[in-house]
Amino acid sequence: MSFEETMANVGQPDRASESRCVCQDNQRHFLERAYRRLGLDDLRQQLLVHSFREVTVQIPLELHRDGVTSLSTYTGYRVQHNHARGPFKGGLRFHPSVNLDEIRALAQLMTWKAALVDIPFGGAKGGITIEPSTLTRDELETLTKRFTQKMAPVLGVNRDVPAPDVNTDPQVMAWIFEEYSKVHGHTPAIVTGKPLEIGGSPGRLEATGHGVAYLTGLACRDAGIDIHGATIAIQGFGNVGSHAALHLAEMGARIIALADVDGAVVNEQGIDPREAVAHTRAKGQLSELPGTTPVCHEDLLAIPCDVLIPAALEGAITCDNADAIRARIVMEAANMPVTHMADEALRQRGVLVVPDILANAGGVIASYFEWAQNIQQFPWDLETVLARLEARLGAAYEAVQESAREMHVDLRTAAYEIAVRRVLRAIELRGF
Ligand code: NAD
Repeated sequence: MSFEETMANVGQPDRASESRCVCQDNQRHFLERAYRRLGLDDLRQQLLVHSFREVTVQIPLELHRDGVTSLSTYTGYRVQHNHARGPFKGGLRFHPSVNLDEIRALAQLMTWKAALVDIPFGGAKGGITIEPSTLTRDELETLTKRFTQKMAPVLGVNRDVPAPDVNTDPQVMAWIFEEYSKVHGHTPAIVTGKPLEIGGSPGRLEATGHGVAYLTGLACRDAGIDIHGATIAIQGFGNVGSHAALHLAEMGARIIALADVDGAVVNEQGIDPREAVAHTRAKGQLSELPGTTPVCHEDLLAIPCDVLIPAALEGAITCDNADAIRARIVMEAANMPVTHMADEALRQRGVLVVPDILANAGGVIASYFEWAQNIQQFPWDLETVLARLEARLGAAYEAVQESAREMHVDLRTAAYEIAVRRVLRAIELRGF
């Protein structure tokens, strides 16, 4: 293939029109409900809804395959939604479905999440439209570092601090740290979710899953379900899903079904998540996990259980499959895994949904702890991180529960009201 031909092979396919709709529709729907309940005028609604800044960059990358060099260009995004309460904060996602609409909606979600758990951050999100498994490790490092170069003017310890999200991990954060530090000097606080050896926080890697498990315990308590022996099904077995499973098993719950992108496995007697983690590390996927039966993705979602934990991508539960859900509690470990129509269908059937801005907030809380430790250059131990994480998450959970009880609304409505009120108050105090 000639250089000109490969130049034509630029850009990535957009495979996400459906998830784009889910993200945008959900944000609009949940926000409008909060605006109505808070009686916000048009001006205030506009102040809350628009992004502060949206940056799109093109990242060229030479690919060497079978002795042939070709050039591809990938699109990267960073959307900074609101920073009234602190620097922008939010994950970076490497996935073929990444697009501006999705990133914009997820950036907003971060604003509400940080406000709900009362940490001094605003909301942002970023990503690159790429299937990272198609790149070598060196190519991924180059891509990440070029993305960082192009985004550096809008990043900063007191401006915008990225973190891991789907298909990005501590290694990717380490590359961002390195690239940013070349120009700005040693700056570990530019990014959170780093490896422990270079300024990462104990507990950050498992924080989101740990928080999901901790809140599952509280939600089960309030629903009259004993966590010892409670049956759990988890869709998504990456960072969040695997750590949620590991901690829930430690709490005495029984993991009966797990899924990753390649398929789902079931064992009603219980799956040992440590074996599932080891199997996934060795084989690259959950399928053929010894002692389990393979099922399709839809069967996993429909399995009778106490708690269903969608921990993969947005739009997993829609009005097409909501009626099939047999769980008593749905813990939104992923961002926006339940569409707003499915949310309503579940509510009408008495299924308790613990919303994403609460359920998966353990990650951003631990990111805040990492940022604080880096700025102070004073590391904490694991016990301190997890105790403070649970204290903050627990306080947010109790506040949402109390507010929901008082106002006779569901947990999501209460959570959005608390978050939107806090952000609006900060905007008004600072002046606009
Ligand atoms: P990850 O890349 O580590 O894992 C994603 C998992 O989902 C993988 O096991 C993948 O195989 C699986 N998956 C993908 N598509 C699937 C499908 N259609 N059906 C079943 N499984 C599927 O990502 P992660 O960091 O664990 O993030 C998962 C979700 O949690 C995302 O929505 C992310 O935004 C959200 N989240 C992550 C964090 C964090 O700290 N990593 C924090 C808050 C929220």
